[in-house]
Amino acid sequence: MLNLQDPTLLRQACYIDGAWAAADSGETIAVTNPATGETIASVPRCGAAETERAIAAADQALKTWRNTTAAERSRILRRWFDLLMSNQDDLGRLMTAEQGKPLAEAKGEIAYAAAYVEWFAEEAKRAYGEVIPSPFKDRQIVVTKEPVGVCAAITPWNFPSAMITRKVAPALAAGCTIVLKPAEQTPLSALALAELAERAGVPKGVFSVVTGKASAIGGVMTASPIVRKLTFTGSTPVGKLLMAQCAGTIKKLSLELGGNAPFIVFDDADVDAAVAGAIASKYRNAGQTCVCSNRFLVQDGIYDTFAAKLAEAVAGLKVGNGLEEGVTQGPLIDDAAIAKVEALVADALGKGARAVSGGRRHALGRTWYEPTVLADVTPAMAVAKEEIFGPVAPLFRFTTEDEAIHMANDTEFGLAAYFYSKDHARVWRVSRQLEYGMVGINTGLISTEVAPFGGVKLSGIGREGSSHGLDEYMETKYLALGGL
Ligand code: ADP
Repeated sequence: MLNLQDPTLLRQACYIDGAWAAADSGETIAVTNPATGETIASVPRCGAAETERAIAAADQALKTWRNTTAAERSRILRRWFDLLMSNQDDLGRLMTAEQGKPLAEAKGEIAYAAAYVEWFAEEAKRAYGEVIPSPFKDRQIVVTKEPVGVCAAITPWNFPSAMITRKVAPALAAGCTIVLKPAEQTPLSALALAELAERAGVPKGVFSVVTGKASAIGGVMTASPIVRKLTFTGSTPVGKLLMAQCAGTIKKLSLELGGNAPFIVFDDADVDAAVAGAIASKYRNAGQTCVCSNRFLVQDGIYDTFAAKLAEAVAGLKVGNGLEEGVTQGPLIDDAAIAKVEALVADALGKGARAVSGGRRHALGRTWYEPTVLADVTPAMAVAKEEIFGPVAPLFRFTTEDEAIHMANDTEFGLAAYFYSKDHARVWRVSRQLEYGMVGINTGLISTEVAPFGGVKLSGIGREGSSHGLDEYMETKYLALGGL
């Protein structure tokens, strides 16, 4: 059914303290393929007790791991990277089966996930401190970087591998240990990562994976005084809850939450390039990414041309089972996801929007939705405020640059924004005014391990990737050396 070259990558147990284990209760959670509805595997339904054990193991492992050299940690991470890439095909198949994204995209995500491991294998060796010129003759001022300690990670289903390696790789590089709770929809990718980490030589207890009941596992992770940092990618409501739960132990936090990305097309844009960028930023992963364009703000003079060209490009997308050749759009993750998309489109159409393309469930059934373009969308419609998380592009109209900036910033979110313009002065002006953590200018693709990924406002705290991504797992210690 899964057809893996290495069937041992399909793990159906938790990985705690270097051992594969069932839940104490013996209960399991079924993992289903969203394209077929079939159950492909089952994983343990763990809770508080297993999480406590994983945290205790991470605490124990920290004693040794934090004292390894950066070079040793780097070599282990480098081996993990090599194993991810040499198993790219199997890992991609596993991901498509549990998540639904087209195989080419899944394999692309494996390369992207592995790139974080390679990057942090390199950055591990560059966690430099500082020597600050002292204002006192008899005192030296030195700043060192130390690992934060035991970390906990909670990740979503839309990028089942990359959201994990962006957290686990810098944690390990810094000398931290980490316990992960992957999303219940996509635990197989996480467990395969753990299997390969073990083969790469990650010592027991340094990286554990606990699958199961989100609230029970999250409750223990956030309350534990041993856990010094929580790193989370997911929805803003759950992020708020976890942040509140972490208050009692004043944990360090990295939160990568929801977005409401504007994609602004100015009259002076290269329309074909903007359409290509729109397709890349909107329809990747069937619209289920936190940096997907959520609102297309298109200037009057170019609106009709852009709408027509986008509809034409959308007609070229191939909807189907992600394992089939040539498919560019898989099913949505589950029934709740498609119900939300349907409700948002119904609301827009009911308030006067026009479907230029798509606008309903796809004939294939299940959770497939037609790639959709909506014209004449206004700020009064729910799509203006809510994250769509589906293959729907709503086109808003604007007249002036100021109006576009106002509309773009008129949201509680601030993750990614995009805009297309050929005017250099405008490029700088607009970039400065957008209240977002990341801005794509004349490009719809912004993600790379070398750049800091993260948001402002309700989109979160902290950055992942780049040298900043390592800093998130390090504490700064100041040494005042007196009596010199
Ligand atoms: P999404 O809409 O992407 O599913 P969620 O925020 O619901 O976003 O889920 C992201 C991750 O957060 C998943 O791993 C999920 O299991 C986890 N999660 C959801 N609710 C809780 C909770 N109360 N405590 C801890 N983790 C949670």
